[in-house]
Amino acid sequence: MTDSQALIKTLDFQLDIQSDNESLLYDATLEARSVYNQSIRLAKEGVDWNVIPDRVAEDASLVKNTIQRVVAKALGAMENYYEYDDYNKPSHTKDGTYPLRANYEEGYNLSLTDDGDVAFRISAKPYKHVKGVLDGDDAHLDILKTALESDAWTIGTAEALFRNGNAELHVNVTSSEGTVRDKENSRTVVGVDVNEDNVALTALSKGSVEDTVVIEFPDIKFKRHRYFTMRKRVQNAGKDSIHDTLEGREERFVRDRLHKVSRHIVEWSQQFEKPCIVFEDLKEMRDGLDYGCRMNRRLHRLPFRALQHYTSYKAAFAGIPTAWINPEYTSQCCPMCGHTERSNRHKKRFKCQSCSHQDHADRSASVNIAVKGIEEHQEWTVPALNSLPTVRTVRRQASGAVDAPTVTHDAVRGYQTDGVAGVSD
Ligand SMILES: [Zn+2]
Repeated sequence: MTDSQALIKTLDFQLDIQSDNESLLYDATLEARSVYNQSIRLAKEGVDWNVIPDRVAEDASLVKNTIQRVVAKALGAMENYYEYDDYNKPSHTKDGTYPLRANYEEGYNLSLTDDGDVAFRISAKPYKHVKGVLDGDDAHLDILKTALESDAWTIGTAEALFRNGNAELHVNVTSSEGTVRDKENSRTVVGVDVNEDNVALTALSKGSVEDTVVIEFPDIKFKRHRYFTMRKRVQNAGKDSIHDTLEGREERFVRDRLHKVSRHIVEWSQQFEKPCIVFEDLKEMRDGLDYGCRMNRRLHRLPFRALQHYTSYKAAFAGIPTAWINPEYTSQCCPMCGHTERSNRHKKRFKCQSCSHQDHADRSASVNIAVKGIEEHQEWTVPALNSLPTVRTVRRQASGAVDAPTVTHDAVRGYQTDGVAGVSD
């Protein structure tokens, strides 16, 4: 996301429509087309534009606010026609279907289900609703969920339409923040070290080390390993449909967790003055980890990138810029003396072979990431690092048996905190 751009996003989804409601939606988009064309015709006949919505509504079988939105769209096109297009005069009427435009909570509604899906309800015709769940890009689903849970963003108008025969919903979401601040104009830099089972955060400002926290999510790693084994077993037994079900379930679980963790990262960062969130640019795999077998590779791949992606997307909606730095040596370099050596790090322990500074290895990496973030993107200098705050951890409870998929997310919602202020679910 570039700087100083209004934070209005259009999120695109596919509609997974319940039972035989698809034809109802299709009919409504044909009706929307006739509302559109009727508006154009009336405008060309010289009818007062203010009375066109009511005139059109007399014949149309659509809910009122949808008629108003479609008429507005048609008259908008007429306006452009009068202003700019007087040499080439098209008919301006449309063929086929036309998007059903609707105001949020008038013509359509969205809600979170217990499974972590987003359910929709579109008023296709008066008293006739099309219902189901949204499918689509992870990041778009994620931002929509956040918008549903947070007052900082407003869900606006949407369009239900058919593209290549498939029903889609395009939802406009606006942030109350307006714009993303320039990343060079930050007072605090938050280094984010993403790992398979935690993220470590350290906030550095001009002149001081502000705070540091490690957010643990051991259940993601645990569940992914379990699902991997289970899928392998059913695959070997030739039960491909069960395999796919398990895969979908795992993805939903991980997505839901990463959604919450990324939200915490942004909320934690918001307590500081003018924050900039800095990630490692993980085009290459992390150094110092064993990616020997395929399973390892697969297990590591998803959380890194997805969590960065979700976090930067959410941060942008909160007006917070993000930046990327080169990941080289971030896990091996001593933040105290700069000595860099692979053996400085042993699993979760960092011990400098030169000055014997010791630390939580992931926190240490987050310090290095923040330092690089300052050096590469800020005008001010790195503060003295001689007294790093004690590492505090925030942990999500393990979620119990993976064989009992009926366990809802509520059962594992909420963090156990070890004396941490400023982080809440
Ligand atoms: Zn050292």
